Parts: sequence; C-alpha cells; structure tokens
Amino acid sequence: MLREALKAMLDVQELDIQMIRLMRLKRERLSELTRIRALRDDLHHQVVLKESEIIELKKQVRLTEGEVTEFASKVQKLESQQSSVRKVEEFNALTHEISALEREKAAKEQRLSDNYDKLGTEEEFLKNLKASFDVTKANSDQMEVEIKASIDAINVEGKEIMGNRSVLAEKTDKDIMAVYEKLLGNKKDRVIVPIESRCCSGCHIMVTAQHENVVRKGERLVFCEHCSRIHYWHEHLVEEEQAAAGGPVRRRRRTTAKAS
Ligand SMILES: [Zn+2]
Repeated sequence: MLREALKAMLDVQELDIQMIRLMRLKRERLSELTRIRALRDDLHHQVVLKESEIIELKKQVRLTEGEVTEFASKVQKLESQQSSVRKVEEFNALTHEISALEREKAAKEQRLSDNYDKLGTEEEFLKNLKASFDVTKANSDQMEVEIKASIDAINVEGKEIMGNRSVLAEKTDKDIMAVYEKLLGNKKDRVIVPIESRCCSGCHIMVTAQHENVVRKGERLVFCEHCSRIHYWHEHLVEEEQAAAGGPVRRRRRTTAKAS
C-alpha cells in the first residue's frame, strides 16, 4: 500500500537528511583544516623567503666590505708611492688618483652603512615573523587536532546512520526508492513532503484543489508540479501511526467554545 510505502520512505528520508547535514559539516571542517594549513604554510613561506633575502644581503655586505678594504690598501699603496716621488707633476697626479679612490671608497662605505641598517631592520622583521609563525603553528596544531577529532566523530556518526538506513531501506518499495533517490540527489533536501494549507511544504507554492484531492486519495504517487517533490497527506500517516499504536483513529475535533 502506498501509505505504508511512503511512511517507510519518510524514515529513510530523515536519516538521509541527517546524513546530508553531517556531510555538510564535514566539508566545512575539512575546508577549515585547509584554510588553517594554508595560513600556516604561507607564514612559513614568508619566513623562508626572508631568511634567504637576509643571506643574500649578508653576502652583499661581505662583498662591499672586501671592496672597501681593497680601496683602502690601494690608497695606502699610492700614498707610500707618493712619499718617494720627486717631481711635482707626479706628486700631483698621485694626489688626484688618491682623492678619486677616496671618493669611491666613501661611496662604498655609504652603501655598506645603508646595508648594515637594512640588515638590522630585516633581522628584526625576521625575528617577529618567526615569533608570529611559532604562535600560529602552535595554535593551528591545536586546532588541527580538534578538527580531526570532530571529523572522526562525524565519521562514526555517519557510519551509524548509514547502518540504520540500510536496515530501513530493506523495507521500502524499490521503485519509489529509485525515484526518491534521484530527487534527493538533485535537491539535497526533503523530497517527500506533506501538503500543508494547500501548499507544497517543499517549495511553498500553492497546489490546486484537484491536486490535493488526488494526494488525499493516496492511490498513486503524486509529484509537485513546481518542484517535482513527492506529496503525501499528513493525516494519513498520523492516523496510520495512531492505529498502529492502538490509539484513536480519528482526531478529536477541537471544542473551543468561547465562554461568554
Ligand atoms: Zn513543490
């Protein structure tokens, strides 16, 4: 009977909805994990980059230091040469050469001084960067542990739901199940829904009175014209449940006589 078949499907549907929510949660957790790792790796990359920049800068500094020493020894050499010179022209020529070298040496020294400053700044920056990386790493390691634990819990819960589902699915009608699964795959939401106040409770669009009557009869599967969901008449299933429990089949009419 269709009512019973739909009732069995509703139980399966509730588990599927739980599963969809659970998988959504798992995807969120996984993307959090990816985000945390990306943040940490990015910071690590910055540290490595800065370290190699500093190594390069130190090389430059050593090179310039060597050049300054070289200029100084050249100057020294020329000065000793100058002390043994007798002709005024030669003396003057050497003076000229020495002052040219001194100027170049001064320029190199200026560059060296700039690089010392830059090195100091960069090393300070690296120190802060490393400290920030250490904090981030400690935090993200902690978060990773928590997220992984929550994913493990999700997996356990998911397994349990799937276990229950496969037991319930055995009792369902194969044809309805096939239609249902196709719809669920599209909507990722409840696809067997009641009509409430003349509306499809899936898409909330009004159905015709004729449509509602067909659903109430419950003789065949009826689909929403707008969203393709399967419709059922809520009271049918409630009555079935009450009948099964040995309770009253008919709901009591509300007797709300206002005391005047
Ligand atoms: Zn609908």
